Amino acid sequence: MATKPLIRNGAERDTPNFGLAAARVTLNRRRLMTWFVLPLVIATLVMAGATIYLEYRQGQAYRHYVVRNSFEGLLRFYQDQLVNNTRVLGTAAELLGRDGTLREALAQRDRERLLQQAGPLFARLRQRYGITHLYFEAPDRSTVARLHLPERHGDVIDRQTMRQADETGRESWGVELGPLGTLVLRFVLPVEAGGRRIGFIETGMELEAFLPSLSRFAGSRLFLFLSKQHLQRPGWERGMAMMGREGRWDRFPDYVLGSVGDADLPPEVERYFLAHREPDQPQPLEGTGQESRAAVFVSIDDAAGRVVGMLATVLNDSAYQSYSHQLFIRTAVAILLVGFVLLGLFLALLGRIGHQLDQQEVLRNLAIRDGLTELLNRRAFVSLLESEMADASRSGRDLALLMIDIDHFKEINDSHGHPTGDRVLKSLCERVLLQVRTADWVCRYGGEELSVILPDTDGPTAIQIAERIRQAVAANPFAIGEGMPIPLTVSIGVAPCVSACQEPAQLVMAADRALYQAKQAGRNQVCQAAA
Ligand code: GH3
Ligand code: MG
Ligand code: MG
Repeated sequence: MATKPLIRNGAERDTPNFGLAAARVTLNRRRLMTWFVLPLVIATLVMAGATIYLEYRQGQAYRHYVVRNSFEGLLRFYQDQLVNNTRVLGTAAELLGRDGTLREALAQRDRERLLQQAGPLFARLRQRYGITHLYFEAPDRSTVARLHLPERHGDVIDRQTMRQADETGRESWGVELGPLGTLVLRFVLPVEAGGRRIGFIETGMELEAFLPSLSRFAGSRLFLFLSKQHLQRPGWERGMAMMGREGRWDRFPDYVLGSVGDADLPPEVERYFLAHREPDQPQPLEGTGQESRAAVFVSIDDAAGRVVGMLATVLNDSAYQSYSHQLFIRTAVAILLVGFVLLGLFLALLGRIGHQLDQQEVLRNLAIRDGLTELLNRRAFVSLLESEMADASRSGRDLALLMIDIDHFKEINDSHGHPTGDRVLKSLCERVLLQVRTADWVCRYGGEELSVILPDTDGPTAIQIAERIRQAVAANPFAIGEGMPIPLTVSIGVAPCVSACQEPAQLVMAADRALYQAKQAGRNQVCQAAA
């Protein structure tokens, strides 16, 4: 005989009349967990992921904006510097051009007088305004006096600014790249006397003089690059040697580094010039390590409109980076907190629902089960018999009913006491349960009487089952407590369902009659009701 769960008979099955069993309650709880908790956790994670992603995108967009802004700011500042310094150069040239002594000396090409007369003024202009170059040139563009390099003179100037001033008779200005690799902002003023040109006054300022203020503006070091296309290598190398700098002509394909030592060059800038991309565009480059950096480049156009150099700097927005890190962490923590709180609320709600389901289950069991034996009670039996008989008649299947009554049970109570009687009764019920199938319903009909509904069972099989039950009870006395084991027997009445139109009450009466016969025949018997 296969072992079966004790006193559980009928509990595994769901009937129209008897709802949830304990197993279903746990199932429901598990379902609630999957339906609410899992989606909640997923929703929280998705929300956190989406927010973090959006924040990351926002940060990227902001970084691009910052780089663009910095680039444009630097460009405007550089252009303003050019304009302002051109004004300074122009003003100086104009003032010198109005000095009668200087005009006379220029007209007479008197180099000594020019040097003597303009010397102190040039020293002041150099010191105060950063004017590094001052020339007096003859109408044929040859140098009469070069204040910043007095020993050199007589050479003919062939720069764009000079040619333009010569041709137009008006002042001209612009950046010029010299053969030694110096970028100079120049201003050339034609000087006339009595409608006749007597020469030119030229002032100039080295671009490197701007670098400190540009650098302050950018908030980072600035690097000046010169285009090799407009330079001759020997001249440039001579210029570098004159400044005591080491020049590496072959380091980059199209540019040479103009103003600083090689060791300090930021890697982003180095990469840019090694690859030599389109000038005049900001290149946002990812930095190394924790810092977030962007390299920015501004092109330097000369008086002829050629790109003769580039200014480069690296902007470091680590401040924004750390701010966005903080924001990121705060958002993640906030979302997780909200998620946990929601989860907690849901779990509390689930607990309450579960508790209510448990209570409902207890109530339901109280309504359909007997407290002592835990078998289905009489009410449940009546309801079950009705539905099982309806099922059987609908499907044309057999059905049988057993009525079991313990023989002389009153004597057990009388000689051993009611408590022992109770325990014997419970133990006997367990033994009966072991003899039936899961599909069968064992109920406590009343007192010491049990009824067993046997679905899908014909008369002979029902007798077999009844006989099995009778033998199982009679076979071994019931050992209760420390007293002598108590022998017991049962009488069983068997009533197969004979016709589809039979009423439940009639079947119960038939089983009762058969039980009565068994008692009459001497007890410990199985009797079948006469058809
Ligand atoms: P028989 O059926 O063989 O004619 O004799 P009996 O003594 O079993 O018959 P009777 O119907 O006179 O007595 C049934 C007894 O079963 C009466 C009652 O004391 C006892 N009984 C019924 N329900 C319980 C119960 O829940 N606990 C205990 N301990 N005894 C019960
Ligand atoms: Mg009895
Ligand atoms: Mg009885």
